[in-house]
Amino acid sequence: MKSKPAATARRAAWTCCSTITGSSSGLKFSTFWRQPLRAIFRDALDGKPISAGQAQIVAASTVEGTTTALLAVAGHLRTRLKGTTVTYSPKVFLPVTNLCRDRCSYCTFRADPDDAQAWTMQPAEIRDCCRHGRALGCIEALMCLGDKPELAFRSYRQTLAELGHRSTISYVHQACEIALAEGMLPHTNAGLMSRDEMQLLKPVNASMGLMLENVSTRLRSKGQAHYYAPDKDPDKRLQMMRAAGELQIPFTTGILLGIGETSAEVVDSLVAIRDLQRAHGHLPLGANGHRAEELLVLRRQLGREAAAALGAREEDPRVGAAPDDLLERVARGFGRGQRRLDRLQQLLHEVVDVTVTSHMRRLR
Ligand code: SF4
Repeated sequence: MKSKPAATARRAAWTCCSTITGSSSGLKFSTFWRQPLRAIFRDALDGKPISAGQAQIVAASTVEGTTTALLAVAGHLRTRLKGTTVTYSPKVFLPVTNLCRDRCSYCTFRADPDDAQAWTMQPAEIRDCCRHGRALGCIEALMCLGDKPELAFRSYRQTLAELGHRSTISYVHQACEIALAEGMLPHTNAGLMSRDEMQLLKPVNASMGLMLENVSTRLRSKGQAHYYAPDKDPDKRLQMMRAAGELQIPFTTGILLGIGETSAEVVDSLVAIRDLQRAHGHLPLGANGHRAEELLVLRRQLGREAAAALGAREEDPRVGAAPDDLLERVARGFGRGQRRLDRLQQLLHEVVDVTVTSHMRRLR
């Protein structure tokens, strides 16, 4: 008697072959495959923009072979329009301060001033990091820090005053000047910034960034991940990304998965990013190498073990196969019990280790 996983794999392979065939010169869909999906994918291959409604149809599809077809079409368009070269930017990570006025429920970076792990880098530390990074072949200084801590903490305002500044962004400007003097190209990711703040930083930055994370205002409601994070207001983040486009600042962004979002909200977020890119051409969508990409790797590698931790059955076809709802279930699991929380955090650490190790191997 054949095992269930083997039968599932055979069925998936058959569906793949029967749904879509072709090479780099073109893709063909089986005429037996579902018409609405076939029409959407054909439109995409013909270069017609996919509407938000069409994207939602694909995201909600339970038709077998949808993911396979989607990946084939996306891969085909990428190769046709962008080629297959993958570039990366060797960088030093400069967490200028980990103080932050927001409290995103999933954050492991932020600290309060009294916490033992709280820090604000001194100018000499910034210079030393840049110098060492340059000696190792790095070219980018990634300024990554908490959001507007001066609005929340008196002691931090004092720290800034001792450094000769009244705002974090003013201090980041100095940090960027230090990085430039050491031969590095600054990229600032300092959370929500005003148009004036971006204008101040533009002359000393190669590019800037802000994770959109998600356009859902629901995630700012009570009990959700961004309830205590005023700077995660999606309208304000979209407004900043729009202003960056108007100021012609090259900009990175992305979505964050596993924070309680629905797949429809993911689609809305990607469409919002695409529309901004169409309007201003400043967003290299998919090029953000920070949290979004890590989580996509995480989605694949957590697979079987995380699903098992959450009680999914071994024969569940979604286990170990990049299940669409896995991260949502992981996020829900974080609210239930210390043991489960510990286990999931351990898994996350293992995944990050694996990810970093494999990146390092590739770079060697
Ligand atoms: S804004 Fe960023 S640093 Fe601040 S709590 Fe949220 S994720 Fe953490």
